[in-house]
Amino acid sequence: MIIGLTGGIASGKSTVSNLIKLEGIPVVDADLIAREVVEKGETAYEQIVKVFGTEILTVDGTLDRKKLGSIVFSDEHKRFLLNDIVHPAIRVRMQEKIEQWKQEGFKTIVLDIPLLYESKLTNLVEKVIVVYVDQQLQKERLKNRDQYSDEEALSRINAQLPLKEKITYADEVIHNNGSLDETKNQLLTILTKWNCL
Ligand code: ADP
Repeated sequence: MIIGLTGGIASGKSTVSNLIKLEGIPVVDADLIAREVVEKGETAYEQIVKVFGTEILTVDGTLDRKKLGSIVFSDEHKRFLLNDIVHPAIRVRMQEKIEQWKQEGFKTIVLDIPLLYESKLTNLVEKVIVVYVDQQLQKERLKNRDQYSDEEALSRINAQLPLKEKITYADEVIHNNGSLDETKNQLLTILTKWNCL
């Protein structure tokens, strides 16, 4: 079974992902893959340079992610162009990782995809777990983790699809408002129900 793990910023995805790994289930990390596919020399890297020009490169030839980010942030058309290059590359690389884990004999594989719904990658997975937290606590945890001000934290939370909406699409929800033990118990209940343990 291929399970998608998602949520919102600082809702507890990494925390749950670590608990899943402790159960011996492999986790494919979409954020890591998104960085891998634009490394110097990769096909997506070459395509990005072709479309956006060498001015989005740093002196050592790697992608200037900050510069690229600010270009596409203010220009929807360019954002679509970039996504059309990066998303298929991520999809292909994730499928390769799934195949590798399958060949190693794993029956359950988790894909940790923070923007699962936003990036329309739902067809890669059979079931989805959304890690939920109330917005006030989400903001506090985000501020503590990344040293953001109230406004910075809130603007990042508001840039994503609301967690309350994401849980309506989920097969299962982990409520991460309580202790780590409570979160772990919910996870184990779900994995047991789906025969993954
Ligand atoms: P995400 O990966 O979704 O961005 P994290 O797993 O990094 O979120 O969690 C955000 C922050 O909240 C981290 O600092 C983490 O240690 C903390 N955290 C997560 N879950 C809990 C919990 N149940 N109790 C207390 N702190 C938590």
